[in-house]
Amino acid sequence: MNLSLVIPVYNEQDNLPFLFEAVQKTMTEINQSWEVILVDDGSRDKTLSVLKQYAEKDPAHIRVISFRRNFGQTAAIAAGLDYAQGKIIILMDADMQNDPADIPMMLAKLDEGYDLVSGWRKERKDDALTRNLPSMLANGLISRVTGVHLHDYGCTLKVYRRDVLEGFRLYGEMHRFIPVYANSVGANITEMPVRHYPRKFGKTKYGLERTAKVILDLFTVKFLVAFASKPIYLFGGTGGLLMIASSIIMLYLLVRRIFFLSV
Ligand code: UDP
Ligand code: MG
Repeated sequence: MNLSLVIPVYNEQDNLPFLFEAVQKTMTEINQSWEVILVDDGSRDKTLSVLKQYAEKDPAHIRVISFRRNFGQTAAIAAGLDYAQGKIIILMDADMQNDPADIPMMLAKLDEGYDLVSGWRKERKDDALTRNLPSMLANGLISRVTGVHLHDYGCTLKVYRRDVLEGFRLYGEMHRFIPVYANSVGANITEMPVRHYPRKFGKTKYGLERTAKVILDLFTVKFLVAFASKPIYLFGGTGGLLMIASSIIMLYLLVRRIFFLSV
């Protein structure tokens, strides 16, 4: 298997026909072995039955995983990755805000010698104030803290070589931090502008509160990447500094007690 597309799906029944049409068109054009893994994240509309209908029509390519309840986009992506067999993994949203037609140029970029090609929604078509602005600030902060400079961590459309996806667990809102993990194992990362469209059907599942979660996850990711295999440097280092500070205070009190205070 060469290419695995992993797509999390939550209440997207009306987008699915367009998604399947676009995915099948692009993947047929690419002409390599491929599969698409759709993870139904506990949808409450007809998503699951629509997915199953498509899978019955094309079982060689379409695989469906379903969650009993809504576990969130990151959990859906993680489950999809566990099942993906391709040497190259492509992550994408189901709502047709991303365009599968961008995949060939991203694969061509990967072939130039990269391990990860990150999509950048240069002309993003979401709400400016509640989505684009906080996301721009978050991207700046993440780039600065992690040293991995990307314009658009939040764009799901990214292409990965399989080996840079192994060895870590995803939770919270963490799928967007995969490039940071990949960088920590030496991945060669690049980004390229991709198309972006407003949502036609269904609603976004996110608002401003997600930016807060992303910032909190950033702390965890920074800790895991920098110290998970050597926590003594963080805890031992902090402990050492506190010991030095307390020894100085002790010494000061001792000197004061012996030489300057008679009682
Ligand atoms: N999604 C999911 N579980 C959730 C929320 C979203 O699987 O709990 C999927 C959703 O169906 C879509 C993708 O994740 O394919 C991105 O969600 P959305 O379009 O709502 O996010 P936005 O594009 O507004 O950031
Ligand atoms: Mg979307």
